[in-house]
Amino acid sequence: MQERTNFMSDPPDEWFTEQLAATVQRERGTWREELRGRYPSWTSCLRWGFEHGDGWRLVTEHLFADLATLLGIDAPVMEVWQVKAKVGTYSFYKDTDGLSEEQRAAVEQRVAAADWEARTTCETCGQPGQLVRDRGWYHVACSAHVTREFP
Ligand SMILES: [Zn+2]
Repeated sequence: MQERTNFMSDPPDEWFTEQLAATVQRERGTWREELRGRYPSWTSCLRWGFEHGDGWRLVTEHLFADLATLLGIDAPVMEVWQVKAKVGTYSFYKDTDGLSEEQRAAVEQRVAAADWEARTTCETCGQPGQLVRDRGWYHVACSAHVTREFP
């Protein structure tokens, strides 16, 4: 993810600002807004929001909490760009260039643990699940949510 490495040194473009505003509006009143509010410096680049089902809410909330413990909540040196379900797996894209090698290793290890947790957690409801394929789409589901509902 090199393309946004210099984001903070460039003024955000208008399109980015509009997309982010639309996402923040969409998240209003949800756990997503709360989470964003708790980690404002990390999520200021999260223009598409948390792009996964509510079933992975705890995966993401615990990940952020643990990263805050690892790095210190005021660490502005990590930017999270995307948190999403990608081909059924948990994807967490971030810029850790500002971190020390040790911190970066700790972050990678914790993100990998979140990925493993998500592999057995239904993306829709949070119950135990497994990777399934529905109409060509891969996602992690419990037996009740094999058929994927798209927002
Ligand atoms: Zn489910």
